Amino acid sequence: MGLRHKLSTFRIGGVHPPEQKLSAMVPIAPLPLPRMVTIPIVQHIGKPARITVQRGDSVKTGQVIATHDGFVSSNIHASVSGKVGIIEETMDSTGFKHIAVNIRVKGDEWDESIDRSDTLITEITCEPKEIVERILAAGIVGMGGAAFPSHVKLTIPEGKHVDTLLINGVECEPYLTADHRIMLEKPNEILVGIRILMKALGVPRAIIGIEDNKHDAIELFEKLLGGQTAISVAALKVQYPQGGEKQLIQAVLNREVPSGGLPADVGVIVHNVATTFAVYEAVQKRKPLIERVVTVTGKDVKTPSNFLVRIGTPVIDLLNAAGGVPEDAGKIISGGPMMGKAIADLEVPIAKGTSGILVIPEEEAKRTESYNCVRCGKCIEACPMGLEPYYLLLLGRKGSPEKAEAEHILDCIECGSCSFVCPSNRPILDYIRLGKAEVRQSKAPKV
Ligand code: SF4
Ligand code: SF4
Repeated sequence: MGLRHKLSTFRIGGVHPPEQKLSAMVPIAPLPLPRMVTIPIVQHIGKPARITVQRGDSVKTGQVIATHDGFVSSNIHASVSGKVGIIEETMDSTGFKHIAVNIRVKGDEWDESIDRSDTLITEITCEPKEIVERILAAGIVGMGGAAFPSHVKLTIPEGKHVDTLLINGVECEPYLTADHRIMLEKPNEILVGIRILMKALGVPRAIIGIEDNKHDAIELFEKLLGGQTAISVAALKVQYPQGGEKQLIQAVLNREVPSGGLPADVGVIVHNVATTFAVYEAVQKRKPLIERVVTVTGKDVKTPSNFLVRIGTPVIDLLNAAGGVPEDAGKIISGGPMMGKAIADLEVPIAKGTSGILVIPEEEAKRTESYNCVRCGKCIEACPMGLEPYYLLLLGRKGSPEKAEAEHILDCIECGSCSFVCPSNRPILDYIRLGKAEVRQSKAPKV
């Protein structure tokens, strides 16, 4: 029997937060164009892009407005047509300030090179080098949250041998349903995207990992694949954080990425399903990453939704389209409840890595009092990376970057499982994030 009918999972740690996939049955709907977009030039891991437009310029939808600066960087495109307004530092949804290009929307005139038809193009005529070039040109980055430039992932480091492409359709964060809907609504495009990525990487097989709470997506892909062996589906047990790259690799292939290592060290490259769809559009349609599917949800949100949103649209527009900001909203989060970050200003723009907007009611948003550690060990049991979270909290709070590094703090994937299980409500992840930042700072070249 192949991997397809086995419910596998990762071996260490993990938790089971309530799923709350309120928008799972809601089809993707395009959000009306905003009046203005704000497009940060950093929406990816790596160097900021270099701005190529000026205030007053007219731009078309899909036109480059900032080019990648070096290899680990990404192109940024106008997501609308109109006039470039002020270019200034703006807060993004992660709470950091970056230079952003404002565009006042006028009409919706697209760059002529983009194929806007719905026709499915299955024949892949591009050679591997051209595939990577088109993905770079289109500014594709990982859309599952990490926003790592996709062309970099397709360039295998010398000395490494990759044999498997893993497609991440897990979407293990509670509430979020954007990836689920893309799998249901664009499966054929995703399958072409997978073949494109396989061709670029020169790998003989691909496996789509999907959690067992998305039966419809599993069945759909199995039906479309019709038993072919090069691409298969791995149905996975529902367990958080199944969508972490290292956990997914362990669950599907039983391979262990070493501490500080990369998936390529064990012969694997992982791409998210939404990214794979964007790769299809970039290579077959020459469409840059100018829009994405975003889930807008929460217990008191009137109409939990999955919207197709132009990059740079203010968060408030999405909330208004989902019935308005609920009266009892206590906290608004970019992303899911486990790994997402609270948004301070509802004017912040949707970025390439924004998968969801979640409204938490006031009652649940209140910071519960934190007590002393009772040494119950629950955080250790829950940690999927085999770390000692209670101790990393102490090191992060004390400011001991050398010790924290020796305790593998950088292996923390910030899944939040430790904070979720802690009976003393200790702010474990907050201090681990602080500790990780200190380690990175201590290693940065001094100027
Ligand atoms: S947030 Fe980090 S330390 Fe906490 S459980 Fe996840 S990986 Fe472990
Ligand atoms: S779960 Fe909380 S109380 Fe228990 S050991 Fe970890 S930090 Fe301490």
